[in-house]
Amino acid sequence: MEKNNHKKHNVYISEEENILKWEDVQNLFKNTFGNEVYSSWLQKISLIKEFNDYLVLGVPTRFFRDWIVSRYLDKILEQVKSAKPSLNRIEFKIIEENKNNSDLIKIDELNKVSEIKDSILNYNRLNPNLNFDNFIQGKSNDIALSYSKKICEHLSRYNPLYICGGVGLGKTHLLNAIGLELQGENNVMFISAERFMYHFIKSIKKNDMVNFKDFFRKSSVFIIDDIQFIRGKESLQEEFFHTFNSLIEKGSQIIISADRTPMKLDRVQERIKSRLAGGLVVDIDIPDLELKVKIIRKKLTEIESQFKESINLSDEVINYVANESKASIRELIGILNRVIAFSRVHNKVLNLADCKNILKDVFSQIKVITVDKIQNVVSNYYNIPLSDMLSQRRSRPLARPRQVAMYLAKKMTSRSLPEIGRRFANRDHTTVIHAVKTITRLSEQDDEMKKNINQIKDLLQEQ
Ligand code: ADP
Ligand code: MG
Repeated sequence: MEKNNHKKHNVYISEEENILKWEDVQNLFKNTFGNEVYSSWLQKISLIKEFNDYLVLGVPTRFFRDWIVSRYLDKILEQVKSAKPSLNRIEFKIIEENKNNSDLIKIDELNKVSEIKDSILNYNRLNPNLNFDNFIQGKSNDIALSYSKKICEHLSRYNPLYICGGVGLGKTHLLNAIGLELQGENNVMFISAERFMYHFIKSIKKNDMVNFKDFFRKSSVFIIDDIQFIRGKESLQEEFFHTFNSLIEKGSQIIISADRTPMKLDRVQERIKSRLAGGLVVDIDIPDLELKVKIIRKKLTEIESQFKESINLSDEVINYVANESKASIRELIGILNRVIAFSRVHNKVLNLADCKNILKDVFSQIKVITVDKIQNVVSNYYNIPLSDMLSQRRSRPLARPRQVAMYLAKKMTSRSLPEIGRRFANRDHTTVIHAVKTITRLSEQDDEMKKNINQIKDLLQEQ
C-alpha cells in the first residue's frame, strides 16, 4: 500500500496529520535557491519517507549527496522546517539508478499527464544554463558549434542539422543553446526522442492522435534529442517519419542529435536514415586536454561568481582532473564537482595527494582490474620476481604472495576459478579455491595480512 502510493505520487503519504506536500517544499526550494540551483540540484531530490521529526530524502548519487550536504543542508532543513516545524533532521538515501527506478519515474509522469498540451509544455522547457555563452569551444566540437550558431542566423539552410557524438560530449547542451537562441521569434519545440515516444503512446491510448500531430507539426523549429532511441520501434519510426516530412514541407528547421551517425542507426528504416543524413551531419569528438582544462577553469569562475567564494585549485590539480576523465565532459564536470565539494567541506586548498584520495572511489568504478595487473602489483609488493611467484616452487615466501594474488584475482575480477588457475602457470582450480579460503581466513585473523591486502588493493586502484 505504502509502496503503491509512493509509486503513484512520488510522495509518501504518512498516517500522521501533518503531511508534508513535497510539491510545496519543492516550490519553497525554488524560491529560496533560485531557478539555476534548483533545477540542477534540488529538483532531483525526492521524498522517500516522512517521520515526525525527520525526513528520508532520495538523491541520485553519492557525489550528489555530498554536494547537497556541503552546500545546502542548512537551508534545506530551514525550508522543510518552515513547512513542518517538528522536523529537525534529514537523512539522505542514494537511489540506485536502476531500471525499476526509471519505471517509477515513468509511472510518475503518466499520472501527471492530463492533456497532451499541458504535459508537453511542461517538458518543453529549455534550460537557461545550457547556452552558447558557456559552451566552450575546442578542436573536438568546433565544427558542431559553428554550424549550430549558423543555423540560428540562417534557418533552413542546413536541414536537418544532425549532431552526433558519444555520451556526455555536449550534444544536449548545443541543442538547448540553439533552442534558447531561437525561441523568441520562433515556435520552438525541444523534446527527447524518448519523450516524443511517450507522448505518442499516450495519445494513441487516449485516442488523441489529432492533437498530437497538430501539436508537433506546428513548430517552426523542431529539436529532437537522442534520436537513436527510435531504433527498433517501428510504429514510432512511422510517426516520426511523417512528422519529419510535414515539418520539412512547411519549411520548419529540424535539429537532431544522436550518439552515432545516421547510417550507423541500425534497426531504423532506410528512408529515415537517408532523411536524417539529407541535411548536414556534424560530429563532436572526445575532448583534448586543452578543452578540458578550459572547461574546468570556466566552471571554477562560474561557481566563484555564483557563490561568491573563491576556490583554489592548483594547476597541478586541474591538470590531474583533466587527465583523469578520459571520455566525457559530463564525467569531467562530475569529478571536478567532487573535488570542489571536498575542498569546501574540509575548508582547505587541496594538494595532489588529497585530490587522488578523493577521487579514488570515482576511478575505481571505471578502472578495470585484470589478473595481469594483480600479479604485477602483488609481486612488486612482496618484492619477488613475477616469474618466481608464478613458478611451481612451493617455498613459503613465494606461496603466500601467490595465494594473495589468486585471492585478489577471484575477488576483484570476473574470472572463473579455472581461468584464474590457468593464469597461474596452469594450476588446478582447487588450488585457487584453497588459496581463496586460506587468505580469507588469514585476513580475518591476522592484522598484518589484513593490512597487506588493503595496501595492495589501494595500489591496484592507483595503477
Ligand atoms: P550529451 O548530450 O552529448 O550526452 P551534454 O550536452 O549533456 O552531453 O553534456 C554533458 C555535460 O557537459 C553538460 O553539463 C554540459 O553542459 C557539459 N558540456 C559539454 N560540452 C561542453 C562544452 N564544450 N563547454 C561547457 N560545458 C560542456
Ligand atoms: Mg544528451
